[in-house]
Amino acid sequence: MSENDQILREDICRFGRSLFERGLTPGSSGNISVRLNDGAWLVTPTNVSLGFLDPGRIARLDAMGRLLSGDPPTKEIPLHSALYGSRPQAKAIVHLHSTHAVALSMLPDIDARAVLPPLTPYYLMRTGQTALVPYYRPGDPAVADAIRGLDGRYSAVLLANHGSVVAGASLEAAVYATEELEETAKLHLLLLKLNPRHLSPAQVQDLVQHFGLLLPASDEHVGLVDRDGGE
Ligand SMILES: [Zn+2]
Repeated sequence: MSENDQILREDICRFGRSLFERGLTPGSSGNISVRLNDGAWLVTPTNVSLGFLDPGRIARLDAMGRLLSGDPPTKEIPLHSALYGSRPQAKAIVHLHSTHAVALSMLPDIDARAVLPPLTPYYLMRTGQTALVPYYRPGDPAVADAIRGLDGRYSAVLLANHGSVVAGASLEAAVYATEELEETAKLHLLLLKLNPRHLSPAQVQDLVQHFGLLLPASDEHVGLVDRDGGE
């Protein structure tokens, strides 16, 4: 086991515990993976709380997804493999059942290509924009086709009635983007029917240019800003 491998295992446990202790994924829900330079992955085991992970028991899979060492991995591997497959730059993926993101996924008339309006700069900067895919039974490999159908344009995906899946260039980036998605979903739900002021198209464009953001579906996204009263 390389030193890098050991540090990443400890990072997965540290971030997992932090997410669990703040109530961002209950029980044994949620899972985390990191893709290593040789194409292998480290993945949290099945039926284990993110709050109580053991670095030595995290699963190590080869590039084909075969278990090399550790406990059997989460059954939600298809989420991870589909997002890694369509986002070559992704190094880590976080999947949570966080309350507000799940609630958001159940709203009627949600825009499947931009589930949230541009409420804050940090949502756009950390998470970008989020797509919605339909409900699938947990572990159903068909969810992978739905994620692949997004053509890698989204690093953040909401699974209807289930949770979020977010990729990042590092584990830290994936965790922070996941937290921004959850907090922005919470803001959105707090503001429903209150006719909140969104960032204007000019403010969004300023963020895009200043921070070099790659926002998918940006034309529709700007269109969203002009709608009356949010959802
Ligand atoms: Zn799940």
